[in-house]
Amino acid sequence: MDLLNTLVDKGLRRESPTREEALAVLATSDDELLDVVAAAGKVRRHWFGRRVKLNYLVNLKSGLCPEDCSYCSQRLGSKAEILKYTWLKPGEASEAAAAGVSGGAKRVCLVASGRGPTDRDVDRVSETIKAIKEQNESVEVCACLGLLSDGQAERLREAGADAYNHNLNTSESTYGDITTTHTYADRVDTVQKAHAAGLSACSGLIAGMGESDEDLVDVVFSLRELDPDSVPVNFLIPFEGTPLAKEWNLTPQRCLRILAMTRFVCPDVEVRIAGGREVHLRTMQPLALHLANSIFLGDYLTSEGQAGKADLEMIADAGFEVEGTDQVTLPGHRATAGGGCGSHEGGGACGSTPAARTEEPRTDLVAVRRRGAGTDLAPNA
Ligand code: SF4
Repeated sequence: MDLLNTLVDKGLRRESPTREEALAVLATSDDELLDVVAAAGKVRRHWFGRRVKLNYLVNLKSGLCPEDCSYCSQRLGSKAEILKYTWLKPGEASEAAAAGVSGGAKRVCLVASGRGPTDRDVDRVSETIKAIKEQNESVEVCACLGLLSDGQAERLREAGADAYNHNLNTSESTYGDITTTHTYADRVDTVQKAHAAGLSACSGLIAGMGESDEDLVDVVFSLRELDPDSVPVNFLIPFEGTPLAKEWNLTPQRCLRILAMTRFVCPDVEVRIAGGREVHLRTMQPLALHLANSIFLGDYLTSEGQAGKADLEMIADAGFEVEGTDQVTLPGHRATAGGGCGSHEGGGACGSTPAARTEEPRTDLVAVRRRGAGTDLAPNA
């Protein structure tokens, strides 16, 4: 397929596909799927070998958010029966983080619900980061606390944070349909603040919210422009009790195409399979490792993932290896230059939007998290 040969060549040169090429990846048929995975897999192996980076989520503060992000079980007015608790103490959070690290995680992601942190919240998280680094100085710490005010990214950096996550989630043109309490521009601003403070920027998307192929390509091209070091790709978990509860739009094949398109557009960036991996990729998860070089180990913020042991077995069975703390995640040019996703080519007319195949909602695969941080039960790691 000429398209795939072109995309592999461009990926190895860190050159951007055109919008038409990215749309064409999303429009491939199921018969072409293994060819698409093989092509994007070449790009993945060129930049990241067979390594899989493991990340571990610690939900520092769960639920009761004043924002109205439609996809989120912690949103204002959510009826989802999730765990709700206020800030974990630094000792509790570092204990939860230690479970993930001993399970093989290289990065700990400290997440808190809310619009953004107060300065007191930044103090709290700074104490938590210090507690985690005292236990294990080689662990990477990423903070995800919402919209940042001036100076907060610098304070987190000083406290030892390595990275900051804030996702763009969807295209600029549909952002207002998903959230009304803040804007797409607010999100871009926070990613830029993190970058400017010397934090490794992590910013990604959520697929499956009813968006078009054009929206998906838009958000991935916008991410390329923002040049984060890591791009988490979430697949919507349609929680009962949220406005998107009926949005069961994804198939395993569609998820693989989305990951392949993301890899072609961001060839040398850590592409991470995030929430919804087990729910939507299901038995196709091992194929997705040929596209992404990073996953979350264990549970998500408000839902349970498959057992950490099953994650490790899957990685080994698929012929991949867990990335160690002595291995550098990013290719040399990114690790040293602090960015450089390659040239960016945009523009052009949009391709067609194939209808997503519908299937029976797999609500049986959505399990509200009842263990780990904020409970008395052992975490999954
Ligand atoms: S995504 Fe974050 S800001 Fe939006 S509702 Fe959920 S916790 Fe609040």
